[in-house]
Amino acid sequence: MLNIQKALKSPLEEFTFKSSVSVDFEPETFSNNFVDSIATVNMNYYVDYDNVIHIKGFVDVPCKFVCDRCAGIFQKNLYFDFEEEICKKSETDEDDDGFAYDENGNVDIQEIVKNLIITNFPTKILCKPDCKGLCQVCGVNLNDQECEHQNKKIGKNNPFADLLNKLGGKNNGSSKK
Ligand SMILES: [Zn+2]
Ligand SMILES: [Zn+2]
Repeated sequence: MLNIQKALKSPLEEFTFKSSVSVDFEPETFSNNFVDSIATVNMNYYVDYDNVIHIKGFVDVPCKFVCDRCAGIFQKNLYFDFEEEICKKSETDEDDDGFAYDENGNVDIQEIVKNLIITNFPTKILCKPDCKGLCQVCGVNLNDQECEHQNKKIGKNNPFADLLNKLGGKNNGSSKK
């Protein structure tokens, strides 16, 4: 929890907030990927003359990812910058859009960080940018070993097979789009 009473009394003055935040997600939230329960948030904020908090910072949280291509498991930190504007919670307005601080100046940092992790979670997960994936025929991990099927990758039924073979066949770069 962050309390912004001091910032409210001192508009435009910049404050720093750094904390470890507990972010417990349900096990299936990120399908097979796992987000550690402790995230680090590091940010600066100030309050403007309309009592809106302006936050700028970053979140860093260790994760265990499953590669979309080779299904390999690897550890990496999810790291992203963010900016948020937070208004005072209105007593009449019931809609839950966005974040708000309460009448005591408390900001629910945990809720904000959890939401930021969800919106910033990668949609495409690769163990490395050029992950070769698995052979679709025998299932070997092509990052670790080659298999006999890779030379025949350009199937005979592919209408461009002849052309592709003329351009140099396998992986020498000349046939890449
Ligand atoms: Zn991979
Ligand atoms: Zn194979």
